Amino acid sequence: MAVHDERLEVADTIAGDPTLLAAVPSFGVARLPRIVFGAGRRAEVPALVAALGNRALLVTGARSFHGSPAWTEITTGLDAAGITWEHVAVDGEPSPELVDGVVATSRLDPPDVVVGIGGGSALDAAKAIAGLLRSGTVALDHLEGVGRGIPYPGPPTPFVAVPTTAGTGSEATKNAVLSGRIKPTGGGAAMPYKKSLRDDRLVAAVAVVDPDLLTGCPPAVIAGDGLDALTQCLEAYVSTGASPFTDAVARSGLAAIGSALPAWYGAARAGKPPSATERARSAMAWGALASGIALANAGLGAVHGMIAALGVRHGVHHGTGCGILLAGTTRVNVTALRARDPGGSALGKYADAARLLAGEPRLDHDEAVDGLVAWLTALVSELGLPRLGDVGVREADIPVLVAESRGSSMRTNPITLEDSEIATILAASR
Ligand SMILES: [Zn+2]
Repeated sequence: MAVHDERLEVADTIAGDPTLLAAVPSFGVARLPRIVFGAGRRAEVPALVAALGNRALLVTGARSFHGSPAWTEITTGLDAAGITWEHVAVDGEPSPELVDGVVATSRLDPPDVVVGIGGGSALDAAKAIAGLLRSGTVALDHLEGVGRGIPYPGPPTPFVAVPTTAGTGSEATKNAVLSGRIKPTGGGAAMPYKKSLRDDRLVAAVAVVDPDLLTGCPPAVIAGDGLDALTQCLEAYVSTGASPFTDAVARSGLAAIGSALPAWYGAARAGKPPSATERARSAMAWGALASGIALANAGLGAVHGMIAALGVRHGVHHGTGCGILLAGTTRVNVTALRARDPGGSALGKYADAARLLAGEPRLDHDEAVDGLVAWLTALVSELGLPRLGDVGVREADIPVLVAESRGSSMRTNPITLEDSEIATILAASR
């Protein structure tokens, strides 16, 4: 036994995973899509759709993907495979009304499969539409927090997710975020909200992740969405809901994003051709997918708790807001962990994340933990992000934002933060 234990410890040390030094805890893995990953694999979309039916509804963003060569390629392929298709373009973040409108029209002659092609908003819209086409219900029947609380009855229409940005990980998750306004029960002005339609059955049947589809991403989208993926990998890694499975996925995502995000952003800003960004795009496509798989199973943390409130109150772009908050949140989490949970696993994970992001495996614990905040700060500045003050957040807004940041993401933060600590993060990010 002693020999075996010794060998295990050596293996753990080599793996560099601080969580494996204990017995493997019990854990589960939620439903995942069938994943088809690789450059050029968009060519398989028609065959994958044909396996699910012969009538498709294509949902894209409004940002002219349907004028691109990839659009022509995919639709020509669908035609050749004998699939009839309709197309809906979604402008911006989907609302319950938009989803219900598409569903009401499409229900008359319902498709066999919904194909979402685009960024997070288009994929979320497609996911919600696929969920409601056959249920006979509307989005607000099931929307968390603001809906009628009716359990989602299913069944969903099979959904194929084809991301064209590297960020949200929506291709791997079971929720669709919808935005709208709702009248408070006591009267008064309608309040904005962003809430999820969430069910295991909403997970895509297939996710086709083709890094070639990322070639048109402008630098600001690369930065904002890439920082969302980075935040999701880091928060899932240090989450109290993490498991050996999510740790492995999140670590791989962090290692990919650490070098690829600044490289891709820099090349895109310099106007380099797609051939110069092949490796970075594939690493970011994987990093984003990894972040979705990790968050779906481990949950997130304080950054996502705060961005929920910032998105609703100030219309801050999700990924950009995550980037703005990331370094300050990491600093406050690390300080709180050193004071209140110095023996827990989270500090070791922060050190490990720093080594992976910076590509410096030999950093010692303290160097790595302190270096992480500096590394994140430098990255966010290199990616040209604004500060919260630039997007209209005033000092006086902070108490409300603190109060509204206590959603489900905050509950899996590696340490419970005091209101004053959340206020410190927001103030330091202005
Ligand atoms: Zn996110």
